[in-house]
Amino acid sequence: MPFSKFGLTPTVLEGVKAMGYREPTPIQLRAIPLILAGKDVIGSAQTGTGKTAAFTLPILSQLGDHAALSRVLVLEPTRELAAQVETSIHDLARFTKIRTAVLYGGVGYARQISQLQAGADIIIATPGRLLDHIERGAANLSHVQYLVLDEADRMLDMGFLPDVRRIIEKCGRQRHTSLFSATIPAQIETLIQWAMKSPETVEIGARRTPAETVQHVIYPVSDDQKTDLLIQLLKRLDFDSVIVFCRTKHGADRIAGLLKRAQHAVAVLHSNRTQREREDALKGFREGKYEVLVATDIASRGLDIADVSHVVNFDVPQHPEDYIHRIGRTGRAEHTGDALTLMTAGDASHVFAIERFISQSIARVKLDNFDYKYTALFEESKPGQKAGFPGKVRGGRIRGGYTFGPSKRR
Ligand code: AMP
Repeated sequence: MPFSKFGLTPTVLEGVKAMGYREPTPIQLRAIPLILAGKDVIGSAQTGTGKTAAFTLPILSQLGDHAALSRVLVLEPTRELAAQVETSIHDLARFTKIRTAVLYGGVGYARQISQLQAGADIIIATPGRLLDHIERGAANLSHVQYLVLDEADRMLDMGFLPDVRRIIEKCGRQRHTSLFSATIPAQIETLIQWAMKSPETVEIGARRTPAETVQHVIYPVSDDQKTDLLIQLLKRLDFDSVIVFCRTKHGADRIAGLLKRAQHAVAVLHSNRTQREREDALKGFREGKYEVLVATDIASRGLDIADVSHVVNFDVPQHPEDYIHRIGRTGRAEHTGDALTLMTAGDASHVFAIERFISQSIARVKLDNFDYKYTALFEESKPGQKAGFPGKVRGGRIRGGYTFGPSKRR
């Protein structure tokens, strides 16, 4: 069954098309009609099943225009999920005027407050930070018509249920509530009875999160060898399509020039390019005319490219959530992808922030037979210690595992 049969609005369908979704996943097939019909829905489904679009598409269709009131609240247990879900909602809503705000702890308040002040129709938040914003008077939930409790069992495990209850009490009573949870333990059952009205249940099997389906690796390197390493990596990777992310527009232009000279078919995407140039870059990249797309973060959010085989972070992203947005371009749905990050000594604190954010440490690896001038960023695994990286990059093996240690002069 095609998406057009659900009765979603044209702008929402355009978003689906731009995402490259051809057919609904099982949970979408079952949940979209129920949510469109105004039912409360319990989905026993995990991340990776397409559940974000399952609740986002019918909600977007019913929201209509931007209204500067927060009418949708999506609660998530972790910062990573909040950022990931916000990216999906933002992407799906790109042809509407709907605005989003994403609120989670561990980062400053200013950016989040300005998103709220700009008039966010949809708030995606972790419970603790949302309550902080409510107490400061920055967030108001009294207009919430759609409440989504995502990964409810994880919120329970993390001790968030009392906060979740306080938050629900602040939402309007005339609302639709959806709850997603891989399991329904007794406390979630109690929450369901208290917070939902005659809910319908849809059950779908488990899959893994995009952060898990992506293979992450870090290549420590000195500043002056970054471009050489990038060129060598691209030579050795057996990639179908790769996006290279740079921090600045100037950097993106410079890298694109270098890669062109290295005989790659390259397109560039950043905010100084004209609309026509951007469209040509995206179209050409999607159709395979260009094998490499060099882009800045500004471009990473709105990119309507679903499946690239590799993402290379030529520059480490400054904000951990940008890492999620960038890698969100690979490893989508059932696919797996690779995310390679070049890291210089000055990037260490940003890399640690990313690892904290995704609750996962990323293996440091060395490219075989690359003439490293500066090796202080590496510390070989000690005897008896497991190598830092399993050694596999799609299309080629990397031998020799290295772990990253404190900078040392040799
Ligand atoms: P989720 O379970 O919402 O985290 O989605 C997992 C991944 O599947 C995301 O990368 C989505 O963009 C992708 N996805 C969702 N629905 C579809 C669909 N109908 N067809 C292809 N990919 C999808």
